[in-house]
Amino acid sequence: MTKKWVYRFDEVEQAEKHVDGEWEKVRALLGGKGANLAEMTRIGAPVPPGFTMTTEACNAYLNAGEKFPEGMWEEVLQALKAVESATDKKFGDANNPLLVSCRSGAKFSMPGMMDTVLNIGLNEETAKGMIKLTGDDRFVYDLYRRLVQMFGSVVMNMPDEPFEEVLTKAREKAGVESDSDLTADDWGKVTEEFKTIYKTHTKQDFPTDPYEQLKLATEAVFKSWNGKRAIDYRNAAGIRHDLGTAVNICTMVFGNMGTDSATGVAMTRNASTGEKHIEGDYLMNAQGEDVVAGIRLTKDIQKLKQELPEAYGEFEQICETLENHYRDMQDVEFTIERSKLWMLQTRDGKRTAQSAVRIAVDMAEEGLITREEAVLRVTPEQVDFFLHPQFESEAKKSAKNSGDMLATGLNVSPGAAVGIVAFDADLAETWAKDDGKQVIMVRPETRPDDVHGMLAAEGILTSRGGRTSHAALVARQFGKPAVVGVSALKIDLDSRQMKVGDNVVKEGDWISIDGTVGEVYRDQLKTMVPDIKDPWLLKLLSWADDFRKLGVWANADYPQDAKRAREYGAEGIGLCRTEHMFFETERLPHIQKMIMTDVSQERQDALEALLPYQREDFAGLFRAMDGLPVIIRLIDPPLHEFLPAPLDLMRELTDLKISLERAKNSSEGDALSKQIQSKEDLLKRAQSLHEDNPMLGLRGVRLGIHIPELTTMQVRAIFEAACIVAKEGVDVHPEVMIPLTSHFNELKVQRGVLEPEAKSVMDEYGINVDYKFGTMIEIPRAALTADQIVDYAEFISFGTNDLTQTTYGISRDDAEAGFLIEYIGNGILPNNPFATIDRDGVGELMRIAVTKGRAKNPDLECGICGEHGGDPESILLCHELGLTYVSCSPFRVPIARLAAAHATLQGSMTKDQ
Ligand code: PEP
Ligand code: MG
Repeated sequence: MTKKWVYRFDEVEQAEKHVDGEWEKVRALLGGKGANLAEMTRIGAPVPPGFTMTTEACNAYLNAGEKFPEGMWEEVLQALKAVESATDKKFGDANNPLLVSCRSGAKFSMPGMMDTVLNIGLNEETAKGMIKLTGDDRFVYDLYRRLVQMFGSVVMNMPDEPFEEVLTKAREKAGVESDSDLTADDWGKVTEEFKTIYKTHTKQDFPTDPYEQLKLATEAVFKSWNGKRAIDYRNAAGIRHDLGTAVNICTMVFGNMGTDSATGVAMTRNASTGEKHIEGDYLMNAQGEDVVAGIRLTKDIQKLKQELPEAYGEFEQICETLENHYRDMQDVEFTIERSKLWMLQTRDGKRTAQSAVRIAVDMAEEGLITREEAVLRVTPEQVDFFLHPQFESEAKKSAKNSGDMLATGLNVSPGAAVGIVAFDADLAETWAKDDGKQVIMVRPETRPDDVHGMLAAEGILTSRGGRTSHAALVARQFGKPAVVGVSALKIDLDSRQMKVGDNVVKEGDWISIDGTVGEVYRDQLKTMVPDIKDPWLLKLLSWADDFRKLGVWANADYPQDAKRAREYGAEGIGLCRTEHMFFETERLPHIQKMIMTDVSQERQDALEALLPYQREDFAGLFRAMDGLPVIIRLIDPPLHEFLPAPLDLMRELTDLKISLERAKNSSEGDALSKQIQSKEDLLKRAQSLHEDNPMLGLRGVRLGIHIPELTTMQVRAIFEAACIVAKEGVDVHPEVMIPLTSHFNELKVQRGVLEPEAKSVMDEYGINVDYKFGTMIEIPRAALTADQIVDYAEFISFGTNDLTQTTYGISRDDAEAGFLIEYIGNGILPNNPFATIDRDGVGELMRIAVTKGRAKNPDLECGICGEHGGDPESILLCHELGLTYVSCSPFRVPIARLAAAHATLQGSMTKDQ
């Protein structure tokens, strides 16, 4: 059987049959737009007759060196005949011409990537026929000039400017402000001038044969799949390059046929907040692209209710039907031709993170989707968004008071962004990527070829465009704060500056934009991270908690971090890095003294001075985590990290010696000599602690064995704190974690020292606390011998930062600034193993450790506390390995909660549900 390349909108069943009934495959075949036009036709929505050339046809065309596959064009002609008979019009007929649009439509919506050509089928003869039929020559010449202009820019890649210049001059000559005030005569002349421009640029006459127009437009769409901007977009959005695009040919309907006609775009719910009401823009007496282009001021869709109540009523009904049918918020395009409503497109609407969460929760509560689906519909990145910076309210207030708020516009993508102004995408990209600058990209409006600059920028600001503008859609999709339609902004691209009233902002000046409320400020405003109090998010996360199997704990060193982690939903502390506490100014001298001395009593004194600090830290953590486990890791890093770098010491010594030579009197000289002596001692010790490979040296458990007093002090501090807070009535569950174990004997020795200390503290306080001893698994040997390790460890926690370092033999401190990035760039490694767990290597070691450990102790608590614990892909692996919990930074706790739920649900639900 020969392949079918073309499906009419009313042939969706055949398309389904071709791909075995799977809707995702129908979308792959007909593209998202084509599939939905066909689906809308099936459910009875008013869709103008038309047909779709498949993505398979596109791929065949591109693979054959830009030749239509055999039989395709014949199928197009046949489908066109069917459209003619459905509409009672004829393509190319001088008396009753059928006009069509040609639009691209890939499986995934790629906003603005491939453009539309409207009014195909017009030439001198058919235009005359149209005039006779409509009695409106102004209308017909407006259509005709649009065809020439769109054909020129979309099909022949001509710049828009020459066309725009003609229009500006025509308006000036006629003394009118708006295109809609130009007469038939004006449009007739404009059309002729457009044709001349067309010929000058393309060296060809404008094609008058409608079939030739259709063919060229189709080919342009096919070819545009491999255009630079399409490829850039796919790279950024992670869309495969071999999908191809479909081409949709649709009967033209006209929103510009008078005061009972209109055209618009709408979302069935608010795309910024998720509120349940239709939101959109429309124009009376206009053609589709006028709305999106932002040339004319659009009206709020709510006004359509008054202007064309009947059509609006039907529209509202159809929106509801579509939402119920697709079980998701829809982004629709419509046209009303002489009071008759036509639906031209529907697709799942793009939305902000806030909106995504609210819509998912609301739809689950409305019974439209299940809670599982609601949880799956929100991505971990969208949850991340809630934790993004906002401006401090004080900073905003004072900026407003001092007149630094420049303007307001539409709040189309939330979040605060601060950066220097770049007026074009290339510059934005260069400044951001090459010079590491924070940039806000500012444009009158954005176009598809600006996407690279938008991705590189912190935020986006435009002076034109609405909620459905290109800038808004792209910003929302990539989570960039954006403010658009700031009409007070006068951007002068030639002089590289913008003005708001008398305020001038030059390229390179700092500005701040608030995409949450749509405000633009001069200079840099202070940002802060918000609390996640959004009630819909809280509900969604609580549903996620019901589904997930993994616990979600947090890495926190200080009580305030622990509190935040708990607020975000952490169920324990998976890692407290105790050494971080030693770096504080009043503590560092004690730890340095402890390192410097060889005298046992001095060492003991130094440790005793440190103990109260540690005890206070731990008590704070226990109080914050009342009732939950807190894992405290004993000191890990090599001791030299607590001493100044030898090079710095040498430099300071040289300075001191010079000062000594210049000393004015003996008392100054004595003081300097003393300082020199102590610096020299410090240098000697720092040099003696020097190791060529400190990461593989005296650190972790080795340190605890080498200086047992240090770890004993820490254990005492932990248990004293535990006993004290337990007496206060806090429910404490300390877990003492020993780092960097490689051999079970290390644990045996450490436990032999530490456990008696713990017991003796509890005896002193007359209290028993529930505690555990355990270890980190950070070295392959420990993973491979987990069965021996667990004889001395009641829990294990994968330190995947070190485990990745020791498995790959790649330094975690140096690699990401060096060859590793090159490895990832040239595909030697699929991704950064320090960001996402290397399944085959590190993941396999984890699997062995869990299996061997649990064979000995089926209830063994197994967790992860490396940075991977907050990475959704790594969380999936942890779920598969049956870990007890993942522990991550407090700010990633909500993300981890959702990712852990996804890990459970993805296995139990098919995606197409
Ligand atoms: C680890 O190695 O994964 C870990 C959590 O410890 P640190 O990063 O402190 O070495
Ligand atoms: Mg480590």
